[in-house]
Amino acid sequence: MSNPIEKIQEIIREKTRFALVTHVNPDGDGIGSQIALHRFLRVLEKESAIINGHPSPVNYLFLDPGHEVQVYESSSHQHLFSQVEAIFILDISIWDRLGRCEPAVKDSQAVKICIDHHISNNKFADINWIDIGASSTGELIYRLITGMGGEIDIGIAEPLYVSIITDTGSFRFSNTSSISHRIAAELIGAGVDPRSIYESIYENSTIGRIKLLGLALSELKVGAGGRIAWMKVTREMMEKTHTKPQECEGFVDYLRLLKNVEVCLFFIELQGGKVKVSLRSRGQVDVNKIAGKFGGGGHQHAAGLFLERSVEQMERDLVTSAEKSLSLIS
Ligand code: 5GP
Ligand code: MN
Repeated sequence: MSNPIEKIQEIIREKTRFALVTHVNPDGDGIGSQIALHRFLRVLEKESAIINGHPSPVNYLFLDPGHEVQVYESSSHQHLFSQVEAIFILDISIWDRLGRCEPAVKDSQAVKICIDHHISNNKFADINWIDIGASSTGELIYRLITGMGGEIDIGIAEPLYVSIITDTGSFRFSNTSSISHRIAAELIGAGVDPRSIYESIYENSTIGRIKLLGLALSELKVGAGGRIAWMKVTREMMEKTHTKPQECEGFVDYLRLLKNVEVCLFFIELQGGKVKVSLRSRGQVDVNKIAGKFGGGGHQHAAGLFLERSVEQMERDLVTSAEKSLSLIS
């Protein structure tokens, strides 16, 4: 028994009680992977619970009509984590990304299994199945389920489809491959309706969110002769539009629309003096490396970080770092 996939399959066959976690501010890939794996475990008549540090963004709630995803509460879930035999840690590259669940997961005696596709993954779990060539963690869950002879019914196909389309930017980012398209084709064959999924995720904005996007875009800045673009959402902008930081998902992608842009930076001013930065590269710059200098991580073309600093200071530091990276490649 050598490779992690075989070990994971054996654990699924032999053990009975599982918990599944994904990262802070869960996204389509994290939630999709969890729901698909959870439903597969239930088909196998295993006990399974999905527990996250934060609630799912509203545009993913359609995946979870039975409220299978729970938000961590120490009073009940600390005990649950101590009782399970295995914990799946999905779409997470480092311990920190577990957020509020981290202490209870670390303290548990359960075997910890990380399934992930981030280049910045530091193999922190007991078993680590990390494939940086995969478009999404959902793609790995698909391989796990089909590798065990599992049937991809609509209940499993839908969340897996969400994983793939959200992490590939609807099949337009560089992680899109013939494999991701083939899997998607099979998921559509299992009954997934691409139109209705797209509508649920991306055509479901409040007016406030669109106005917030407008405010941020109106102050968009460029540097390095148009090769770097950045913008921010401040607390004041969110108050004005009655919106929350989670509603900014996808804003960074508007910066990629600019001709000749290579590095995009998007800043969100969070409560309590923290700033979240999303980084995107459309060229050779490795934004995972830039994020890594500030304690974050991700992939070569998409990365993120959180820091306790003023948004103005973060803008200066990140733009300077992006300028340096550009000067090294040109
Ligand atoms: P996003 O900007 O969409 O939140 O994240 C882009 C990519 O970077 C995702 O793959 C995400 O997992 C990763 N990422 C985002 N924030 C962080 C962070 O604070 N730390 C690390 N290590 N990765 C992050
Ligand atoms: Mn992912």
